Order: sequence, then C-alpha cells, then structure tokens
Amino acid sequence: MGSNAIFLSAMSVFSRCMGPGSPSISLNALQLQKRDAVNEKVEKGLYVFESVPCACCGSLETELIAERDRYGLFFSVQLCKGCGMVYTSPRMTDAAYGEFYDNEYRPLYVGSERATDDFFAEQRNQGRRIYNFLLGAGEMRDTMKIVEVGCGAGGILDFFRGKGHSVLGIDLGSEYVAYGRDVHGLDLRVCMLSELALDFVPDLVIYSHVMEHILHPLDEMKNIANISGTETLVYIEVPGLKNIHKSYGMDVMKYYQNAHSYHFTLASLRYLMESAGFGLVSGTEYVRSIFNLKAKLAGVFDWAANGGDGVTANGGTQAYNEYNSLKNYLVWNERYRWIFPMTVSGLKQRAKRWKTRLLG
Ligand SMILES: [Zn+2]
Repeated sequence: MGSNAIFLSAMSVFSRCMGPGSPSISLNALQLQKRDAVNEKVEKGLYVFESVPCACCGSLETELIAERDRYGLFFSVQLCKGCGMVYTSPRMTDAAYGEFYDNEYRPLYVGSERATDDFFAEQRNQGRRIYNFLLGAGEMRDTMKIVEVGCGAGGILDFFRGKGHSVLGIDLGSEYVAYGRDVHGLDLRVCMLSELALDFVPDLVIYSHVMEHILHPLDEMKNIANISGTETLVYIEVPGLKNIHKSYGMDVMKYYQNAHSYHFTLASLRYLMESAGFGLVSGTEYVRSIFNLKAKLAGVFDWAANGGDGVTANGGTQAYNEYNSLKNYLVWNERYRWIFPMTVSGLKQRAKRWKTRLLG
C-alpha cells in the first residue's frame, strides 16, 4: 500500500473527529456556559489563532486528524509527517491562552468557579499516586526539597509535606494559589518557572498534567535544566496518546482538550527532554515519567530497546520517529472502538458506574 492509500483510509477513519459537533463528555450548566463563551470569543476574533511547526522536528508537513475537542470546541490536531508528533495547530496565541486560563479554563475543565475542598482532596490523591510511582521506581528519598510547577491549589504538595518533605509551588491561577496558601498554609506563588528565583537546588521538580499545556515545551525544559542539579529528579505526567485504549475507553474524542498544545507519547516527551539535556530514569505510556540530567550524562538511554516501535537510532545520534506506529495505533483505536465495552477495562468501568449508581 502506498502512502497515499494509507492517508486516504486514515482520513475516512478519522471523519467523525472532523467539523463541528456535540461534546463527547457530559457537561454541567457552568461548563456549557463557559464553552459557549469560548466559542463566542473565537467567532468574534477575540481569541486569535496561530500556525506553528512541529516542536520535535520543525516540520510543517502534517496530516489533520481532528477538528474539535471533547467539549465540542474548535481544535485542530495535526500528525507530523516528519516524526509522528501530534500537536495542535493552528492554536490560540500566548495572549489568547492567557485570557482563556483567566476566564474559562478551570470552570470549563473542573466544572466549578473556584478551588473546592473536593478539588484539593483529589489533588492530594494525585500526590499519593505520584509518591507511589517514585517509590516503585526506587527514587524516593528522605526530606526532599520539592518544587511543583502548575500546582493549582497545592494538594499534591500537601501530600508530600505530610511525608516530611519541604515544598514550594507555583501557578498562574491566583484564586487556586490563594486557596492553598490561606486554607492550607502552603508556600505557593503566582509566577512562571522562568520568573522564580530559587536559592536552593531542588531534589524533585513536579509537572503533573502541565507540560501538555505549555506552548514552548523545549524552552520550559531548558529552564528546568537551569534550576536542576545532576541528581534532581523531574517528574512529568501527561495524558499519554498511546494510552487511550486504557484511560479513555479507546475514544480519542474523550482525550482531545483545547488547552492541550501537545499530545505526548512517552517517546516524544523523552525526545524533547533529551534535547534539553535530560535522560529518562523511568517511564510508562500512561504517561508517568522520571528524568534527570545524570541519566543523560551516563548515557543509560537505549532507544532501540525502549522504543522498538519506530523510534530508531540514526547513525549514532538518537532520532525520534514514531509516525507509523502512532498512526497505526490511532487507526486501530478508531476501527475497534466498538469492542471496548467487551474488554476487561470496559467491563470494569461499567461495573464501577453501576456500583456508583447503587451507592449514590
Ligand atoms: Zn515532527
């Protein structure tokens, strides 16, 4: 089959992701109101869009694979023909996203206007999951100095503080930061990493569901390298594009979210982190991952062993390319989505819903 034939069949496979459509998750009244507010600003030209090249390989050659997100918002998702990176383009500009994060992001995504005790408790649970992942990887140490970027209300840090670590969080959402500071006494600040003056070298830096929102991820990763020592652990969690069969019921339309500018796999995240000087210590396609500078210096990285699905070594330099494996994965999910209710995770999710209904 020639590449044109693959392209045409893929286009028809993704046709349900094209054009305007209803939300693919259920939304409350506040979420619907905020979604309409975004649409109105887009239509009036208040939210400006820009086309960008691939952050991994710089290519502008792409295939369009979706035109809206799970809220039913305009959302242009591209598959890079150069390397297989999936990213959003055209996307809202820095200024438009700034406005969006101030006005619609939290209410649209969380369903409530301000930080609540429930939100904080869920963040604490996320803190426990991150802690357990680090523990499982053998990377937890006593009394670490921890910095979290995009900490929200600080629930993740609160969990680590409870384990005896010293914690500092930054976020751009002032209301959430105020909640964590005032109600829970956490050291949280409103700023970006590049504006943070640290007088210590952190032992652990956390990005939990943050990196996929950042418009210039490689710049951000270089900033992390600047504040890191060789042993500093960098924990990055993003929604893994190769995990939609496990986390999103095989439905990519539940995965796409307009605030996400990159749709990472472990390999594409690893490639960008390598470009910033980091090496992978441990990682899964979920994606949960741990990096440090030491791992890159020690050359422990082995693309052939870790990414045998299209990630290839290229004349001694390590080149990222998972175009074929990622496209096949996305096509496979589209074709076999209907079997999801009969899979083990499908049955588990149905049982959970049933139980919740009985208890509720
Ligand atoms: Zn690319």
